[in-house]
Amino acid sequence: MIIKNVSLDIVCGVTSTLPENEWPEIAFAGKSNVGKSSLINALMNRKSLARTSSQPGKTQTINFYNINDCMYLVDLPGYGYAKVAQSEKEKWGKLIERYLHSSKMLRAVFLLIDIRHEPSKNDKMMYDWIVAQGYEPIIIATKLDKLKRSQVQKHVKMVRQGLSLLPGSQVIPFSAVTKQGREEIWDLMDRLIGF
Ligand code: GDP
Repeated sequence: MIIKNVSLDIVCGVTSTLPENEWPEIAFAGKSNVGKSSLINALMNRKSLARTSSQPGKTQTINFYNINDCMYLVDLPGYGYAKVAQSEKEKWGKLIERYLHSSKMLRAVFLLIDIRHEPSKNDKMMYDWIVAQGYEPIIIATKLDKLKRSQVQKHVKMVRQGLSLLPGSQVIPFSAVTKQGREEIWDLMDRLIGF
């Protein structure tokens, strides 16, 4: 996809009515600090439209980025803030669940995992939860530039095993610094939404 125009069109909080969009949606999930905003900005060729380094406790929303008036990139709230009260976490969880459950235009869910570390319990829970909602998450292994090239295969394997991925499911290594992986992600998204 050649990016012509992007804008943040819709922001939904825990009490919001979710939109009934007419364009296909691709959603992004991941724990806070995994590099989700950086990935979304890289996909949109923007430096800072998606919020980066969101602070714990800050209001969490689902943000819909309009791409070329033909699709949405959907930024789901980051999980795993240790400092946030359980009641807040449950509200975000319900919001995400409501979205995954109700969107008619959601074509795929990408789950971001830091390539350096073994997936956490929360990552595994999120993976299983997305599967339970009827989607097969596509994994993006972020911060690829932090590894030596010789370590990449081993870490991809670690991510696969940590999440008990089904054989054949995809893991795409990505770096927001070098943009490695960006084209592959766009090619895949183009196919998913039928372009
Ligand atoms: P979010 O909380 O998931 O939206 O994460 P951010 O995109 O705000 O990134 C969290 C931190 O990781 C920031 O300091 C980013 O600059 C850094 N970061 C994100 N992606 C990468 C990457 O691919 N490589 C490196 N080296 N740092 C990254």
